[in-house]
Amino acid sequence: MKREFYALGRIFADASGIRELQVEEENDDVPLMIECGIHKQWARSAVVCCHLVGDTGGEIRGFVEKSDDPDDSQAWCGRCEDLFVEEDDMTERFRAFNDMRLVCEFCYADIKRRHTGPDAGEAEGA
Ligand SMILES: [Zn+2]
Ligand SMILES: [Zn+2]
Repeated sequence: MKREFYALGRIFADASGIRELQVEEENDDVPLMIECGIHKQWARSAVVCCHLVGDTGGEIRGFVEKSDDPDDSQAWCGRCEDLFVEEDDMTERFRAFNDMRLVCEFCYADIKRRHTGPDAGEAEGA
C-alpha cells in the first residue's frame, strides 16, 4: 500500500491528531517522527481515521489495523472498513470519509485500547 504521509521536523499533536502537515518526499527508510503534544516526547507516527481521534464519548468504533509494520502503523474504524470494502480502493470518496490523522505511536496504542471491542479479534478465554 502506498504510504500517505511524510514529514520532517517538529510537529505537535493535540487530542484530534494532526491534520495539516508538510509532506516531504517519500523515504521508506526513515520513519516519520512526531513530537506529541499529549505525551510530550518524540515518537514514531501512526495513522488513524478521523473517527478514532478525540473524545468519542466512550463509543467503541472498531479498530482495523491495515499494517503490521511498527514503522508504519495504520488503522481505521469499522465504518471506514465497510466503505473501503464497498469502494474496493482508496478512492476520493473513501479518503474524504476517512480523513486520516497523524498521531504518535503511544496515542495509537491508547486509541487501539479504546476502540477495540470486548468481542473483537481473538478474545482470550471462553
Ligand atoms: Zn473511520
Ligand atoms: Zn501521543
